[in-house]
Amino acid sequence: ADGSGPSPIRTTCPYCGVGCGVSALPGSGRALAVAGDKAHPANYGRLCSKGTALGATVGLEGRLLRPEIGGRPATWEAAIRRVAQAFNRTIERHGPDSVAFYVSGQLLTEDYYAANKLMKGFIGSANIDTNSRLCMASAVAAHKLAFGADLVPGCYEDLELADLIVFSGHNAAWTHPVLVRRMEQARARGQAWVVVDPRRTDTADMADLHLAIAPQSDVRLWNGLLAELIRRGVVDRAFVEAHVSGFDDLQKALEADDQGPAAVTQDCGIALKDLIRFYDLFARTERTVSLFSMGANQSAQGVAKGLSILNAHLVTGRIGKPGACPFSITGQPNAMGGRETGGLANTLAAHMDFDAEAVDRVARFWSAPNTAAKPGLKAVDMFEAVRDGHIKALWVMATNPAVSMPNSGRVREALARCPFVVVSDVMAETDTTAFAHVKLPALAWGEKDGTVTNSERRISRQRPAFPAPGEARADWRIIAEVATAMGHGEAFGWRNPAAVFREYARLTAFENTRRPLNLGPLIDLTPAEYDALAPVQWPPTPGGGDTPRLFADGRFATLDGKAKLNVVHPQGPASAADGAFPFSLNTGRVRDHWHTMTRTGLAADLCRHAPEPYVAIHPEDAVAFGVEEGALTRLRTAQGEAVAVARLTDRQRRGGLFMPMHWTDAFAPSGRSNGLIGQAVDPRSGQPEFKHTPARVSAY
Ligand code: SF4
Repeated sequence: ADGSGPSPIRTTCPYCGVGCGVSALPGSGRALAVAGDKAHPANYGRLCSKGTALGATVGLEGRLLRPEIGGRPATWEAAIRRVAQAFNRTIERHGPDSVAFYVSGQLLTEDYYAANKLMKGFIGSANIDTNSRLCMASAVAAHKLAFGADLVPGCYEDLELADLIVFSGHNAAWTHPVLVRRMEQARARGQAWVVVDPRRTDTADMADLHLAIAPQSDVRLWNGLLAELIRRGVVDRAFVEAHVSGFDDLQKALEADDQGPAAVTQDCGIALKDLIRFYDLFARTERTVSLFSMGANQSAQGVAKGLSILNAHLVTGRIGKPGACPFSITGQPNAMGGRETGGLANTLAAHMDFDAEAVDRVARFWSAPNTAAKPGLKAVDMFEAVRDGHIKALWVMATNPAVSMPNSGRVREALARCPFVVVSDVMAETDTTAFAHVKLPALAWGEKDGTVTNSERRISRQRPAFPAPGEARADWRIIAEVATAMGHGEAFGWRNPAAVFREYARLTAFENTRRPLNLGPLIDLTPAEYDALAPVQWPPTPGGGDTPRLFADGRFATLDGKAKLNVVHPQGPASAADGAFPFSLNTGRVRDHWHTMTRTGLAADLCRHAPEPYVAIHPEDAVAFGVEEGALTRLRTAQGEAVAVARLTDRQRRGGLFMPMHWTDAFAPSGRSNGLIGQAVDPRSGQPEFKHTPARVSAY
């Protein structure tokens, strides 16, 4: 500030996992001027269309500003009492596993920590799962199997230092645009790009090579690469010998499966010359970063896909070095913070699992003898348990599962049957709040105060630009008040988010001799230091500085300190396309919208790029099925039906369809794609197969 006016607030964008720094200057009323924060190391001043439009989304129109019970305004006291009584009564009658929380990567780390502590420590169940289950759970499982912990080894600087970037199921130009802009200079000096994606996306347009592989053939492609690397002797023998286990088993399995590149091209549906070009590029480029995102993760074999990518980096020693790493990119702003605190039902807390030692440690730290000792239900199973009556009280926080869950019609049935549903949200009317017995008004971006972790493990502050509107409250505070009303007040007596963060940081450091997630240098932050906290990549150095890369010393988080190579076999999708449903339906995001549009739908500029639900189809398939450009088109799957405008494009493979996932009842009720998606999940990660559902199309 130059002293002539108020200073901008330095905060963090609430959309994707890039975690861009935002400089926000409040004007009169709810006006907010937004610019990129030039000093933030995630984006150095850049913002994409969604971040730039943040100022248009902070109005109070449609906000939930008072608690409601049974659709009527209520006091906070009455609403908190009602929630606490309903949960306590349900637990008394049916046990702790009869209740559940479904939370969100939109929550701040402090909110996540409070929710996880209440459910796992004091209710005594692990039935808390996050919508990150739909986003990154496969990468989490792959990281744990290969590295011994859920660790992203690299940093954004690696994207600038690399000579080759491989994008696997990752349309970065739309989903993480600021990262693409960070690579512009590297591109200008000759950095090569390979895009592995059944669709010709905008990222594929920018690439040197696009491999439009058949849906779900990723493991075949990467296993073929590994076999080729071994055949060519492109293995870092010294690194493997010193730092990696499982090489002999992997080599044997690959040799047993390997029928050479020609067989790979047949299974993947790509040209041999393109495959060889990819293999040549990968083989000769030391500085390679392999980004993987939803196209890899949202699959019944998502963990295998992730592992096949990690294997390729481990055998070549391309990890922990500048410009070389496998890099899982998260979709949500705080998917990482949620994973860290324990927001996934199969993690206890602070990256600790449910082994007896960790349960005892966390129980002592929390003074919570009732701490859950086994994993809870993952998202799809959780809503099934709601539907069949095993879960009788559900608290949904900051997410819209009536739209975003697969087979969302079935999720709506579950919500309608559930005896007690609480929804904490910023918006009064969403597809999910329609099922709420109690609605609790939460703070929105621009009002929240806390921290998030981005895809490169960087913890950044979200700071408020506005005071709390109406009676809205911070999520961590709402959770603490419910916990207190349930009888657990002593453990939830935080006065401010800094106190929650300090406790979380202390847990990461508690009896920690070898866990990489250790925020020890941050455990004594005063409220003023917390407020001023500069973005930092964990684990912070003793002086509070960044750790840009993990495993630089070749030590992994496993018991023997070695990374583990995992044998993975290619499999087909959970259900193959057939005569009744001959297409493979792929769902995903458009460039300018976020999730279920409750926020981006408020910005007119963001609605222009894709104004209505659409289905992309190859022109020859369109002719064969009587579908015309711009005409309403019916999609059917075993789960349901939707209507969307047809877009004929040779960017689609023959036999493939693409439909965005954003539209809700408020915007286009017949255009909801997730009602079409089946409930097949990866058996290890529980992540649903959003990228392939057998479908058929016809003129409407
Ligand atoms: Fe926000 Fe992601 Fe865009 Fe950055 S790239 S401005 S974090 S949506």
